[in-house]
Amino acid sequence: MADVIFCIVTTIFRIFLITVMKRLVAKDINSEIFQLFGNYKLGGEKSKVKNMKDVKNMAGVIDTVEFDIKPEEEIKSETGTKPKAAIDAPDSGSYDAVIIGGGPAGTTCGVYLARKMINTLLISPDLGGQVLRTSEVENYPGFKTISGWELANEFKENLMQYRIHLRIGDRIVAMELSENGGIVQTEMGSEYSFKSLVVATGTRSRLLGVPGEKKFYGRGVTYCETCDGPLFKGERVAVIGGGNSALTAANDLLSLGCTVQLINFLPGLQADAVLVEKSKSHGNITFHTNHQIDEIVGNMSVNGIIIHDRDSGKTAKLDVSGVFIEIGLIPNTTFAEGILELNDQKEIMIDCFCRTNIPGIFAAGDVTNVPNKQIIIAAGEGAKAALGVNDYLLKKKL
Ligand SMILES: Cc1cc2nc3c(=O)[nH]c(=O)nc-3n(C[C@H](O)[C@H](O)[C@H](O)COP(=O)(O)OP(=O)(O)OC[C@H]3O[C@@H](n4cnc5c(N)ncnc54)[C@H](O)[C@@H]3O)c2cc1C
Repeated sequence: MADVIFCIVTTIFRIFLITVMKRLVAKDINSEIFQLFGNYKLGGEKSKVKNMKDVKNMAGVIDTVEFDIKPEEEIKSETGTKPKAAIDAPDSGSYDAVIIGGGPAGTTCGVYLARKMINTLLISPDLGGQVLRTSEVENYPGFKTISGWELANEFKENLMQYRIHLRIGDRIVAMELSENGGIVQTEMGSEYSFKSLVVATGTRSRLLGVPGEKKFYGRGVTYCETCDGPLFKGERVAVIGGGNSALTAANDLLSLGCTVQLINFLPGLQADAVLVEKSKSHGNITFHTNHQIDEIVGNMSVNGIIIHDRDSGKTAKLDVSGVFIEIGLIPNTTFAEGILELNDQKEIMIDCFCRTNIPGIFAAGDVTNVPNKQIIIAAGEGAKAALGVNDYLLKKKL
């Protein structure tokens, strides 16, 4: 009898061991472990990561997204009758249309252009853009609620079923115009010529510009409360800013049980009254308006900030383990300066057809002067830009 029980127990143990070993050698599990322990640094040595959902929503790991772009031949042989699928772009080439940016605007534009059978290249560090930094999206039609990561994946999957060249993991650093088009240059040294161009490069977070900000980025300093807030549950944190983003972040952190120090450079708060009232109804928030940050301090990770009152000059050190910087967004337009017309906020000026001041160059989404920066608006503008490109190429017979 004892032998039988021993035999059953060892068999179960063996099956368990084999299953664990199989999972460990599987590529996705390894890459998750790599992401978990290798790439994410927030909080310094003490990792606060609870599970992979946390990891996937963090700003710090968006660059590790894997793309299953296959060579053209492989897709043809696998699918037989369906050769139209996204393929990895060569290091140089000429395209009828080049899209810069892989957020909602760029990916939607890509879907439209590929469906028009226009020879198109999309260049971007990632596919998803700011959506990858969003925890839950509740205002994109078709989904009652969806995580930013999942929505970005939907955009990616939708795009990749079409014949389009993709260069992911690279970015445009310069552009030049020539007759009937131009050339874009990437950070990794590639050059692509285009007949038409769509700029859909979105925005990036504005930096505070104080000592300690760069040093502690990812170790207590963050620009994305939605991504990183849950890591500071119940802790003392600072929110920098006085607009809607800052007050939204403060309210989220308060609901996570945090004690919040809100520091605003200007007197008063600039956010909507409803957000201000909500934050004031919590007992755990202190407002430091008309205050300036002098330094973010810490050892391995943040342990405080030094601020001063802009009227009295009186300084104070606030003990916090997290600093959430919510002071606005800057359009990614450096490479277009001096070529495309920008407004005083460095947004690309477009008309209602997404046309810029240069014929054949279009822009879409958050990078433009179109008001209200939202996913659905960016996606719609991406579609409009694609139809504009199609029209332009047809009329110019390019
Ligand atoms: C935390 C957070 C939460 C949000 N929540 C919501 C929400 O709930 N609902 C909603 O509707 N909106 C929300 N938004 C706003 C929404 O995400 C944006 O309006 C939308 O993503 C804009 O899309 P876009 O394609 O114009 O730009 P982005 O999403 O910014 O995409 C720009 C793309 O361009 C790429 N890029 C940048 N520079 C270069 C370059 N030089 N070369 C090549 N590529 C480049 C980027 O890597 C990125 O792929 C949220 C934003 C944030 C930050």
